[in-house]
Amino acid sequence: MIIESNQRPENAVSRTTVEAGDHYIGIVRAGQTLRLLDLEGNQAADTLFFNAHDTAERYSAMDTLREQGEVYLSAGSKLRSNEGRVLLTITADTCGRHDTLGGACASESNTVRYDLEKRHMHSCRDNWMQAIADHPEYGLTKRDITHNINFFMNVPVTEEGGLTFEDGISAPGKYVEMVAEMDVVVLISNCPQLNNPCNGYDPTPIELLIWD
Ligand SMILES: [Zn+2]
Repeated sequence: MIIESNQRPENAVSRTTVEAGDHYIGIVRAGQTLRLLDLEGNQAADTLFFNAHDTAERYSAMDTLREQGEVYLSAGSKLRSNEGRVLLTITADTCGRHDTLGGACASESNTVRYDLEKRHMHSCRDNWMQAIADHPEYGLTKRDITHNINFFMNVPVTEEGGLTFEDGISAPGKYVEMVAEMDVVVLISNCPQLNNPCNGYDPTPIELLIWD
C-alpha cells in the first residue's frame, strides 16, 4: 500500500548514509520514526530488529505474517517480535511491498545457489557478523542472527508456493518509514550481492533518517 510521509528530511535528528555493501547498527527510541531511503533504486536492505533492553526478543517473520495474514510487508504492517509484541509499525511506504521470506545472502547459500567459487564473496550474513563484532556493546552474538526483513526486495511467491528473486520494484527516492513502539536495535546489511537481481547486480547506498 502506497502511503506518503509528511516528515521533512531537514527536520530529521539523524541522517546516515550506508554505503553500497556496507552495514549499520544503532538504536531507534520508542516514538521515533525511522526512514530507509533507497537513494539510487533497486537496492535491498537486509534488516534485523531487537528489543534494545532484552535482545533475546527479536523480529519474528513468522509472528508478523501470521498476525497480519499477508505475506508481504507494507504500510500498516506491525513488525512483531518472537514474543508477539510490536517492535515497530510501518507508517509510510512509497515502494509498495517488502519481503520477509527470502532470507539473507550468506557464503553458504552463495555456493549452493551460484557456484563454489562464490564462497568468498561479500554477503549480508558476513556484514551482520562484522557489525556485531565491531559493536559488542549491543550484546548480540551469532545466535541472534536469524530471519530478517528485506526492505525494497522483490521476492514474489509463485502460484506453486515457491519464491523467486526478481528485478526490483523500488526506484531512486522510494522509501519505507516506521515508528518504533519500543526502544529497538536496528541491524542492517546494505546487500552486497552480485549474483541475483535483488539489487540490480549493482549495490548502491541507502540513507537512514530518524525523527523524534
Ligand atoms: Zn544480501
